[in-house]
Amino acid sequence: MNLTYSPAEIAFRAEVRGWMEANVPPARLPSFDASREGFEAHRAWERKLAEGRWGMVTWPETYGGRGLDLVRWLVFEEEYWRAGAPLRVNQNGIFLLGPTLMEFGTEEQKARFLPAMASGDEIWAQAWSEPQAGSDLAAVRSTARRDGDAYVLSGHKIWSSRAVFADWAFGLFRSEPGSERHRGLSLVFFPLDAPGVRVQPIAQIDGETGFAEIFLDEVRVPAFNRLGEEGQGWAISMATAGFERGLMLRSPARFQEAAKRLVALYRAHEADCPDGTRAAVMQAVMDADAYALSIYSTASRLMAGGTIGAEASTNKIFWSEMDIAMHRTALTILGARAELLAAAPAAGDAGRWLDGWFFSLAGPIYAGSNEIQKNIIAERMLGLPRG
Ligand SMILES: Cc1cc2nc3c(=O)[nH]c(=O)nc-3n(C[C@H](O)[C@H](O)[C@H](O)COP(=O)(O)OP(=O)(O)OC[C@H]3O[C@@H](n4cnc5c(N)ncnc54)[C@H](O)[C@@H]3O)c2cc1C
Repeated sequence: MNLTYSPAEIAFRAEVRGWMEANVPPARLPSFDASREGFEAHRAWERKLAEGRWGMVTWPETYGGRGLDLVRWLVFEEEYWRAGAPLRVNQNGIFLLGPTLMEFGTEEQKARFLPAMASGDEIWAQAWSEPQAGSDLAAVRSTARRDGDAYVLSGHKIWSSRAVFADWAFGLFRSEPGSERHRGLSLVFFPLDAPGVRVQPIAQIDGETGFAEIFLDEVRVPAFNRLGEEGQGWAISMATAGFERGLMLRSPARFQEAAKRLVALYRAHEADCPDGTRAAVMQAVMDADAYALSIYSTASRLMAGGTIGAEASTNKIFWSEMDIAMHRTALTILGARAELLAAAPAAGDAGRWLDGWFFSLAGPIYAGSNEIQKNIIAERMLGLPRG
């Protein structure tokens, strides 16, 4: 692994920085989970990114990307977070489904779905979890019944992020009647406004509706919407989970920028901080940098033809625990001010830390709970017997 940037990478960084400086909205956009207005403001931002061909720089040009390598994606992310650009409303599409489609989709499916994903015209939700199938995803009971050149979808999905306002969802369904566990599952796409789909928002701890339940009652979609072979759904969803945990969902720049904000917060309140705060701030900076180095190493390995395996689980545990620790330190520094909601007139940056703290608490749960990641590490990396 070479830890210096090439002249071409340095020039690329300058190009991204220039574009971001000229285009990032000066004020924070309203939350994409709180209202349709906020969601559409983020969609408009996705369209602007796409106009500059910045939607997903690693994708081939034909699908709206720039055909660049993973190191340049990491550089792009560093500049994106440095500029304080909006959160990606289509993260389920571009970071999770996109790479999976690239690997398992037909040419027709890629041409149909990827450009609209890159442009923000179609925003995606992930519909895998069910009330009795969270950690134990192989317990999925929703069905995809084959009927000629169509599937008829029925069942109940839950915790589907962005589903309240999104356009499409990719779901995991039991396509072989009577099959059990990870056999007989298929990955099928469905429009969230199709007849028979009912989306029921779920209020979060912060009052926003970041996710939803989805009820499917005989929803008819063309067989074209199945990704990969019938019955291959488990293998495909595990590939998606690898992208999610191992690389794409949480780029290091997100945490490095949070660590910089934490240092600034500490400097502003140093005199009032309890003992141990300085060490916690330094730990945050070191952890964020260590995570970045580890991801650069993963990227180098992938660029040399390697794959992401069970070690994606170690990444997921690391970033989720780091995120909580950083926010806990920020709340300690803020003291009583930490309780100000973002909308409070005197909140300033405090409200943002509180929002971040709430969200960080979900980190050990989404993308597969940390307990499950520890099981994966124990069994597949350390070769320990099943518990
Ligand atoms: C913010 C957020 C966004 C999400 N977005 C989506 C989304 O877009 N799409 C989607 O499909 N899902 C989404 N989820 C759901 C998420 O994937 C599940 O919540 C997660 O997989 C855990 O499942 P569960 O909630 O059913 O908990 P359960 O599986 O019931 O687990 C409850 C507790 O038991 C522990 N546990 C369970 N089994 C074991 C075991 N074998 N060994 C040790 N401990 C165990 C778990 O770690 C957890 O602490 C989201 C969740 C959150 C919090």
